[in-house]
Amino acid sequence: MIRLLVWMLLIYIGYRIIKTMVSGKDRRPDVVHDKTEAEPTHRDPVCGVYVSERDAVVGRHDGQRHYFCSMACLEKFSEQLDHKPT
Ligand SMILES: [Zn+2]
Repeated sequence: MIRLLVWMLLIYIGYRIIKTMVSGKDRRPDVVHDKTEAEPTHRDPVCGVYVSERDAVVGRHDGQRHYFCSMACLEKFSEQLDHKPT
């Protein structure tokens, strides 16, 4: 009789563990990728995309800093500068 009670207790505990695992899965971590909003963003002068300072490729020209989404845009930008008549 006691053995049956122990089994029931074990089953109950197992049931509780499974239940908390399942309900934990349902809870979505919804505030995770909102961090980027707080970061300062800069506009890529080549393609017009906004890039965060951390992800941006930084190019310097005439003491000014320019932020690009990729090296390709940085190269394009410097190419345009080269062709510009000064
Ligand atoms: Zn770009």
